Amino acid sequence: MVKRKRIESGAGDDSCAGTKPSIHNFSLEEKCEFREKLITWFRENQRDLPWRKHLSNPDVDQRAYAVWVSEIMLQQTQVATVVEYYKRWMKKWPTLQDLAKASLEEVNEMWAGLGYYSRGRRLLEGAQKVVQEFGGKMPRTAEALLKHLPGVGRYTAGAIASIAYSQATGIVDGNVIRVLCRMRLIGASSTSQAVQNKLWSLANDVVDQDHPGDFNQGMMELGATVCTPKSPSCASCPAQSLCLAKAQVERNKSKNGNKLGIKDSIAIPDIECVVEKCDLCLPENETWDEREGVQNYPRKAGKKAARVERTSVCVVCRRKRDGERQYYLVQRAQKGLLAGLWEFPSLKVEEEEDENSDHSIHKVLQSSCGLRVPAAIQSTHVGSVEHIFSHIHQTYVVQAVEVSEEEVDDSRVHTESCRWVTKEEFSSAAVSTAMKKVFKAYENLGKKKISTMDPGKNQKSITSFFKKK
Ligand code: SF4
Repeated sequence: MVKRKRIESGAGDDSCAGTKPSIHNFSLEEKCEFREKLITWFRENQRDLPWRKHLSNPDVDQRAYAVWVSEIMLQQTQVATVVEYYKRWMKKWPTLQDLAKASLEEVNEMWAGLGYYSRGRRLLEGAQKVVQEFGGKMPRTAEALLKHLPGVGRYTAGAIASIAYSQATGIVDGNVIRVLCRMRLIGASSTSQAVQNKLWSLANDVVDQDHPGDFNQGMMELGATVCTPKSPSCASCPAQSLCLAKAQVERNKSKNGNKLGIKDSIAIPDIECVVEKCDLCLPENETWDEREGVQNYPRKAGKKAARVERTSVCVVCRRKRDGERQYYLVQRAQKGLLAGLWEFPSLKVEEEEDENSDHSIHKVLQSSCGLRVPAAIQSTHVGSVEHIFSHIHQTYVVQAVEVSEEEVDDSRVHTESCRWVTKEEFSSAAVSTAMKKVFKAYENLGKKKISTMDPGKNQKSITSFFKKK
């Protein structure tokens, strides 16, 4: 006969006085056990990441700077991608003071390919603010970091304060959400205000008071390497004895075994939330899916569909008298998507446009930058390049033209926001990944000679792009 015990974690919880007993809290004993197991596990298993080397620096501002740069780079970007960027960044700007002296152009060049370019700009603005307004000393608490540093949200402030200053403050990012939702059976949408509030309160409650940096890094490391979204390794998880999602899986297995007449003598917890109409539990109309196991948690709200956009792009190649080839780049506005980055002359296709719209290379150049090439020169249709930004599914239709130095007229062009670059300069310029893809497509055009393709065929390709799908 299976013995059942009812879990009402949170009853008697020192720091949750006044709250109803709930499976969604940690009891004092659970907190102690979790802290000890997680920190021990983290110290033995942490990955060798370059920013962790800076954490033993006796200079607190240097520690904070190292955490700040790494955390900003890691937002929306995978660790494997960040590692090389981080090393290059710290080599070029080893201190806050060095960064504060950099130009936005240099920062954009360094950030090229990492995406979400406003992150680099905000780091630069933050470093300048720390140097100019705080004498080079970083704000010393999570609250002050949040208040004073541009681009530093609640999570980053908590990470810097706990890891660099040992302030006992919790953090909540995607990894922590997953671990906490699974451990405490939080099944309501993780983007709801109730769940967000609960996760922050849990994170602040459970964080180790003496070693908050190791605890928080342990939470993130656990979510990144063990309690992963698709294939969590519960059997090797240091928190398995405290995890209610895992207990729920065991309980269901045991129930199914009983139905088949297999007896179990171990105590299987009966997990039940005692809060009426709990806004943290799985919604009543969403049931536990046995095939998903612990992956029933966390529940995500339906993702908003990405906006579909199309843009005409022109690669203009200028042959100089000495044979050197150069490409024309235009700088984007200093605000908005890809602010301040360089791109090939581009023109967005508006919703209402159709196949009769003029997106000839002459029109695109005229509208985007004022560059003029002789009307008789035909462009080559390179092809379509797809790029997904976080909220935009962008299709670039790429045309190319090759002209001699005498044929191109850039006299009307504002030179500060337009420039000619060689291929080598292009590869190190502050250009987005999308533009690098465009250039690759252009280069892949291979042996086809730009500007001498059949104009009729080319026009057909361009026109078909505007046909509604
Ligand atoms: S036991 Fe499994 S689900 Fe629970 S925290 Fe560990 S890895 Fe995640």
